[in-house]
Parts: sequence; C-alpha cells; structure tokens
Amino acid sequence: MEKTADVVIIGGGVVGLSIAYYLALKRAGRIVLFEKGQLGEGSTSRCAGGIRVQFSTEINIRFSLESLKTFEQFEEEFGVNPEFKRIGYLFLATTEWEIGVFKENMKLQKKFDIPVEFLSPNEIRSRWTYLRMDDILGGTFCFWDGYAGPNEILTGFASGAKRVGVKIYEGMEIMGISLAKGKIHSVKTKDEEIFTPVVVNAGGPYAASIGGMVGIKVPVKPLRRQIFITAPFHLTDQPIPLTIDFHRGWYFRKEGDGLLLSGPLDLEPSLNLNIDYAAMAETSENAMYRVPALEKARIARGWAGLYEISPDHHAILGRVPEVEGFVLANGFSGHGFQHSPAVGKVISELITDREANTIDISSLSIERFAKGELMVEPMTAFKE
Ligand SMILES: Cc1cc2nc3c(=O)[nH]c(=O)nc-3n(C[C@H](O)[C@H](O)[C@H](O)COP(=O)(O)OP(=O)(O)OC[C@H]3O[C@@H](n4cnc5c(N)ncnc54)[C@H](O)[C@@H]3O)c2cc1C
Repeated sequence: MEKTADVVIIGGGVVGLSIAYYLALKRAGRIVLFEKGQLGEGSTSRCAGGIRVQFSTEINIRFSLESLKTFEQFEEEFGVNPEFKRIGYLFLATTEWEIGVFKENMKLQKKFDIPVEFLSPNEIRSRWTYLRMDDILGGTFCFWDGYAGPNEILTGFASGAKRVGVKIYEGMEIMGISLAKGKIHSVKTKDEEIFTPVVVNAGGPYAASIGGMVGIKVPVKPLRRQIFITAPFHLTDQPIPLTIDFHRGWYFRKEGDGLLLSGPLDLEPSLNLNIDYAAMAETSENAMYRVPALEKARIARGWAGLYEISPDHHAILGRVPEVEGFVLANGFSGHGFQHSPAVGKVISELITDREANTIDISSLSIERFAKGELMVEPMTAFKE
C-alpha cells in the first residue's frame, strides 16, 4: 500500500472511476481510489442506465452533450461494448402545465441543436399503439436519447483507470480525513494512513458522511428508488422508447426480453435497500394504466437503489472554500451515471489545471446554497 498519493478518490462508483481515469490521462501523479465494498456496489450497479439530452437546464444539457461524445466512442476508447441503445426518450404530458414546461424545455434544447420533436396525441397514438391515450395532451421525443449498461461503463472506466496507472483498493473504507492548517493532510483506513494533499469525495449517497470527516455539510440525501423487471413479455415488434409518464413519475423501457418498470421514489431519506410489496403494487398500477397490455405481464424481480439528492436536484461540483484540497463530485440527483464522463473530465481539469475548461462548473459550487443561488429546474416532478 502506498504511503503517499497526489490525489485520493473516495468511492468506486462510476463517478469516482471516471475521475480517476481522466486524472491519470492528464498525468496527475499517483492516484489512489478507495472503495469500501466492491466497485459499483453503490448506486451505479442499481441504476437504470438512462442517457438523455432532454434536460431543462443549460448546465445539465452541457453535461449530457459532453458525456454523449464518450458514450458514442466508448468501445474504441475503453475496449468495452457499452451496450448503448439509442431508442429515444418519449416524455408524455397529461396537463396543460406539463405541455407548457415541455415547450419551454424544447426551446432551450433547440438552442443546442438537439433534434427534439413535439408530438401531438395522434402522432403518439400512431407510433406507439400500445399506449393508453385518452388523457395524453402531447409529448416530446428525441432519438439521441437511450440507455447504456451501468456495469459495462463502470468496467470500462475501471479497466481504463488501471491501465493508466491508478491504484484501486476494494474492501477499504476511508474512516477519517486529517487536516493540517485547514488543508487536506491524510486519509485513514482501519489500518493505514495515506498522506495526500487532495481528496475527492465521490461517495454517492454517502457524500454527507465523507463531508462530515472534514467538518463540511454536504447537502446530499439518500432517497430509495425501487425498480421492477417483468418476466419475458412481448409488447410490440417496434422499438420501444424509454417512455415517461411525467405526471405519474413513472417510466419503462425494454430490459432483455422483459421490461424495466420504475417504482416509487421515497420521500424520506434512508439507506434502506429493500423492495416492498406496496411499491410493487403501485408500479403495476402505473404500468397497467399507461400500457393496458401489461395486465398480462408478470413481475419477476426487482431491486432498490439510492438517489443522491441535492436541494436543487443538480450536482455539487468543485472545491470547498473552508478546506484546501477537498473536492466534491456529489449530489447528481438521479443523473450521475449519464453525466459521469463529463464529470470525470471537469474534475480532472479542476485538479490539474486549477479550473474546469470543458464546462464552466462555477454554478454548481457548494457555495450556491449559502448564497441562495440555487439552480432552477421546472421539471423537478420527475427523475429517472
Ligand atoms: C434506481 C436508480 C435508477 C437510476 N437511474 C439512473 C439513470 O437512468 N440515469 C442516470 O444517469 N442515473 C441514474 N441513477 C443515478 C445513478 O445511479 C447515480 O447518480 C450514480 O451511480 C452515482 O455514481 P457515484 O459513483 O457518484 O455513486 P455510487 O455508485 O454510489 O458510488 C459511491 C461509492 O462510494 C463508496 N463509499 C462511500 N463511502 C465510502 C468510504 N468512506 N470509503 C470508501 N468508499 C466509500 C460506496 O460504497 C459506493 O460504491 C439511478 C439511481 C437509482 C438508485
């Protein structure tokens, strides 16, 4: 085990591994990553893999567009097929307010030349005949969107990081961080102390407890979301987009021969990873409401994972003013998988070049909460 490192990353999910990879590419010195369990065992392996450009804030769209470049050439760069399926995202609106929000979002998305289309109920009915349409007022569709394999992306970043020299330790929890004169001094595992000037908090739903090690309140709450998978089910021969019933906060997409159905998102923070019957019943009800043919589908399995929610549902990225050398990559609020490539790039730039050039991340600083400069997102009703 190294006694010193130039950068220590805490957390071996997709975000920590992406940061490790891009840091090593930029020759940031000795980079060591600690994961308390196994790589990916946090939120990453439990996520739905959704990737979309249909966001409602400029900063999220920039992160999506930058990350898309990596997903598109993932196999060439990492030698792993990312299983990126560009099936599109279909957002469905059932109220006039939602139609207004969708149209506003489209205006913003069009500024970035994103090929998003507004669809009338008749257009939706003719393209996706299995949907219940009597309450749908319209929707938006973008064929750039889709999903990729969380484990494939994680594996690509992990093997890429190792190839460029990152040392990765699994089964090693960081239990404390020591400071000297307000600067990062070392991290401590149960048995070891590693001296380093820079620590990256990539702890996903555990971000707040890592922040607590240096006396910083990182406002990230873990919220459970459940997911259910049906037994093999044939709905149509046509491609099925990732379809979001915006009002109900429910979505579904294909998963192998079956379908992935989103379950409820808890309102209260917890680290509970169980699935429960009430959630399964609610999920089935949402599914049968929007896709009546699913009455015949059988739920075969399910799992729960933790969203890492920030107060304004945007990431918290960058340094903290109180502790020199402490860097945050937290609070992705359900988008951390799809934004992980861009996050790796900007955090590696911040550490090696003093500032992020690929995307200006100043609006995502933790200081925004104290200043009351929260991000404003009209579409907070739904998170994938
Ligand atoms: C059900 C569900 C569906 C989702 N769907 C999507 C989606 O469609 N698209 C999308 O973009 N995102 C989605 N997300 C969100 C996405 O999963 C997360 O934003 C992303 O995985 C965050 O990655 P991470 O590396 O920051 O966190 P994690 O993957 O949680 O990794 C953090 C790691 O830090 C480790 N750790 C914590 N504390 C310590 C410590 N003290 N010492 C050492 N290690 C430590 C943990 O064990 C963990 O492995 C979904 C999430 C859930 C739960």
